Amino acid sequence: MSRREISAGCVVYRTTEILTEVALIQPRDRKAWALPKGLIEPGEAPQRAAEREAREETGLSGKIVAKIDTIKYSYVAKWEKPPARVFKIVTFYLLRYTSGDSSQHDREVDRVEWFPIDQAILNASYPQEKTIIRKAKKLIQNSREGM
Ligand code: ATP
Repeated sequence: MSRREISAGCVVYRTTEILTEVALIQPRDRKAWALPKGLIEPGEAPQRAAEREAREETGLSGKIVAKIDTIKYSYVAKWEKPPARVFKIVTFYLLRYTSGDSSQHDREVDRVEWFPIDQAILNASYPQEKTIIRKAKKLIQNSREGM
């Protein structure tokens, strides 16, 4: 048994003259730091899904400024009978924070925290998400050089 899941997510960032920070979540009952993301609903544009999931999971809203990249992984849903192999595709967008409060996250998430971007790269549990945050850092640097 196998199936495909297509999700979208965000690197939510905020920046001052001296510091860029990124919001990471701890999904419920998982000792992992991860980027906010979730399944794209039927008929929903990936960017809208990414913004919606970021808002629901972190309490934070903003403006999508770029598409970062798409990652692929697979896992076995052991809690299903029979267990299914899930092939997953997740596209991440760069979202510049404008409003909201990380205490307003939903119950799917245990914690939301802002980290300096280099610390977020270190803390992120999944190697592919580390790469996504590194690419986000480059995009943010490039956008600032153009200012
Ligand atoms: P979604 O957030 O898209 O609704 P979900 O919370 O149902 O998804 P995932 O976050 O994909 O599910 O997690 C399912 C399994 O895959 C977990 O065991 C998790 O540890 C693992 N996983 C999550 N992200 C990655 C990744 N980037 N690389 C490898 N494994 C991952």
